[in-house]
Amino acid sequence: MHIPRVRFPRKSGIRHFNRRAFVSSTSEKRKMLTVLVYRSKKISTLSPFELDNLIRNSDYKNKLANISGVLFYNDDYFFQIIEGEENCISNLYHEICADDRHDDLVKILETQIPTRYFENFGMISFDIRKKTRDDLLLEIKNQSRNRGKSPYFDRVLRVVSSFTSGVWCGEENYKSPCMEWIESCVDVGSSPISSCLDKVKYKFSVQPIINPLERKISSYEFLLRTDKGGPPHECFSLLSSHEQYVLDATSKLVAFEWASKIIEGETKISVNLLPMTLVNITGIVDDLVSQLNSFSLNSGQVIIEITEEEVISEPKKFSNVIKCLRAAGFGIAIDDFGAGFAGLSLITKFQPDKIKIDRLIIKNINKDGPRQMIVRSVLTLCRSLGIEVVAEGVENIEEWRWLESVGINLFQGYLFSRPNTTSSLSIKWPKLK
Ligand code: C2E
Ligand code: MN
Ligand code: MN
Repeated sequence: MHIPRVRFPRKSGIRHFNRRAFVSSTSEKRKMLTVLVYRSKKISTLSPFELDNLIRNSDYKNKLANISGVLFYNDDYFFQIIEGEENCISNLYHEICADDRHDDLVKILETQIPTRYFENFGMISFDIRKKTRDDLLLEIKNQSRNRGKSPYFDRVLRVVSSFTSGVWCGEENYKSPCMEWIESCVDVGSSPISSCLDKVKYKFSVQPIINPLERKISSYEFLLRTDKGGPPHECFSLLSSHEQYVLDATSKLVAFEWASKIIEGETKISVNLLPMTLVNITGIVDDLVSQLNSFSLNSGQVIIEITEEEVISEPKKFSNVIKCLRAAGFGIAIDDFGAGFAGLSLITKFQPDKIKIDRLIIKNINKDGPRQMIVRSVLTLCRSLGIEVVAEGVENIEEWRWLESVGINLFQGYLFSRPNTTSSLSIKWPKLK
C-alpha cells in the first residue's frame, strides 16, 4: 500500500507551526508532566528524627518513580511540590493521603506542565523557620535547572511565597471532629397534592436550613416533586416553557399551604423561582402576596430563591420584578451560587439577602485548596455587603467543620436532614462536648 508522505512546505509559517504542534502533542501523550502542590498538618508527635527518616525515604522512593519533590515545613505544616509523570504523581498522592504522619491534606494545585521547574533529585526540604522569605525564594530559583520563560515557573515562586506568608496555615479552629449527634423529629404532616393544566400532578418536599450550633431551624425550603415523589425536572419536562413558568408560579400556593402548618416563630419559608418565571408571569408579586395571605402568612416570612438556570433574556424587566419583590417585603437569595450562570454578574445587578453556595463548591471543601479560596472570597464579599451565606449540599462532618471554622453558620444538606415527603422530619444536631 502506498502511504503518501506528508510534506510541510518550509516557507509557510503556518504549516511550520502546525508541524511543531503535531510533534509536541504526540510526545505529551507519552510523558504528560504534572505538578501537584499540597499542604498538610504535621502530627504533633512527629520527632525530628522521624522527620529526617520521612525525608530520606521519600527521596529514595521519588528517585525510583522519577519524581522531584520539594518539601517546606514549619512547626505545624508541610507544604510540598511534586513534579513527575502524571500517573506516578497520582499514585504518590494516593500514598501521601493514606500516610498518618500528617493529616488535613489540602490539594492546592494540580496541573500539567511543559517542563520541570526542579532538577530530578528525589526530594529536598526546607525548614522555613530558619530562612527569610527572600533567601528561600532565591534558593528555590537556584534549584531550577531550566531558565525558560514558562508561566509555570513564576507560578511556582508565587505559590511558595503564599505558603510562607501563611495563606495556607490559617485554620486554628478546624479540628477533625469526633462528633455525637442528637436527633430531633418534627411531625410535619404531608404535602397537599395539586395539578397544573391537567398535565402534571405535583406536591412538595421539605428540607430545613439550619444553624447547627445554635440548634435553630433558619428556614424550610420547599422543593417541587411529582405526586409520586419524582424530582422537579420530571414535573417540568412534560410542559412547554410557558407552561413551566405557570407551574412554577402557581405551585407556590401549595408550598405556602403546607408551610402554614409547619412554620413557627422566626423560621422562614424558602421557595425556588426561575428568573424567567418572574419576568414572564405578569402580576406575579401580587399573586404571591395573595397566595400567602390566604394562609395568614406574609411576605416577610418568605425567601425567594432565584435559581439562574437559564440566561435572563430581559434584564430590565427582571430588575423591575426584583424591585417589586423587595418593596413587597420578600427576602431574596441567589441559589446555587458559583454554578452555571448563577455567578458574580448577578451580584452586580442586585444584592440579595442571602447567597447559597452551590454544592459542587462545597463538596470535599476540607481537602480542596481552590474551593477553599472561592468560599473565603465569597465570605469576604458577603460580609462586606451584609449578605448571609448558606452552604448547600453538606454531606459529611469534615466539610461542615471546615465551613464552620471559616465562619459559615447556616447549612443545608444530607448530613443534617434530607428532603422529606413523609410526615416525620428528622434533623441531626451536633452535640458539642
Ligand atoms: P436547589 O434549590 O438548590 O435545592 C437543593 C437541591 O439539592 C434539592 O434537589 C435537594 O434534594 C438537594 N440536596 C439537598 N441536600 C443535599 C446533599 O447534601 N447532597 C446532595 N447531593 N443533594 C442535596 P431537588 O429537590 O432535586 O431540587 C433540584 C433543584 O430543582 C433545586 O435545587 C431547585 O433549583 C429546583 N427546584 C425545586 N423546586 C423548585 C420550584 O418550585 N421551582 C423551580 N423553579 N425550581 C425548583
Ligand atoms: Mn433552592
Ligand atoms: Mn441550590
